Amino acid sequence: MKSSKPELSIVIPVFNESDHLYESLVTIAAAAASACQHFELIVIDDGSKDQTWEVLEQASRSIPGLTAFRLSRNFGKESALCAGIEHARGKAVIVMDGDLQHPPRLIPEMVELWRGQGFEVVECVKTNRGNESWNKKAGASLFYGLLNHLSGFDLKNASDFKLLDEKVVEAWRKMPERTMFFRGMSAWLGFRRTQLPFNVETRTGGASQWSIQSLARLALDAVVAFSTKPLRIVTYIGFIFFICSIVIGIHTLVNKLQGSAVTGFTTVILLQLIIGSIIMISIGIVGEYIGAIYHEVKGRPRYLINGRSQHTGSVQTLEE
Ligand code: UDP
Ligand code: MG
Repeated sequence: MKSSKPELSIVIPVFNESDHLYESLVTIAAAAASACQHFELIVIDDGSKDQTWEVLEQASRSIPGLTAFRLSRNFGKESALCAGIEHARGKAVIVMDGDLQHPPRLIPEMVELWRGQGFEVVECVKTNRGNESWNKKAGASLFYGLLNHLSGFDLKNASDFKLLDEKVVEAWRKMPERTMFFRGMSAWLGFRRTQLPFNVETRTGGASQWSIQSLARLALDAVVAFSTKPLRIVTYIGFIFFICSIVIGIHTLVNKLQGSAVTGFTTVILLQLIIGSIIMISIGIVGEYIGAIYHEVKGRPRYLINGRSQHTGSVQTLEE
């Protein structure tokens, strides 16, 4: 069932959002309708455990232009986004969250910047971080500080709320990596871009699906995917320790020859501990990169689709 190419595709990854999803989709569809005539909503159910898929089946019967895909399990937001972008057919693609924290009223403005002013990427940047807990805010600021420094891209206040022209989407599809970090990848792509500030709204319902562990994993994946500087730092630390060891070695030898060698138990223990932990950390950093290479060479699919429900009412299952 192929209709003509829509002007705009809106990609929305969702995970356990059933209690407010229907209303959110109606709001997003209304905002899209005010921006252009022909649009599609691509909603990816990222292996939700609640009634999200049932809500999406219902929504696909009543909201025109909506196509819902169901992943075979929870692959994580980045993979769900990837599934959505790969299935989007629009001349521009907007990516946004399904909890209305990315305000749909900005959609007409984003479309105007793209269609009217010819920007190929419209990035919405956060002017606040919503009502996040202090530890999430502190973690985010530490992570972005580190990532900006290591990768050379300014990702502070970046969000996944973006409009991408089809040219950019085409380029994005050529990036074959398995470990994805959408914000970083879209920064890497370049193209003519502009920013649109927005206030992160409070969630319409439910709770954020990110645990501290999943955020830490994303942070580590992003750093490893975007920079090899940690490997270089390990090498530098190695050199610094080598120089220190030469100095301390000569000092010890001279003491020994002069017959005034001291029994420095504490010094030995401290040196052992420091060098031991630096070696462990270094092996860990190298291991992260080997793990990332292993993950990439396996070449597994980034997500698996286990169901699709489209506005025409037809429901198919199990497609690749
Ligand atoms: N999400 C997802 N898979 C996940 C976690 C989250 O598709 O494993 C979706 C979620 O349903 C929402 C968006 O990603 O639409 C942002 O997630 P959330 O609101 O939990 O994150 P936050 O707004 O706190 O960054
Ligand atoms: Mg949210």
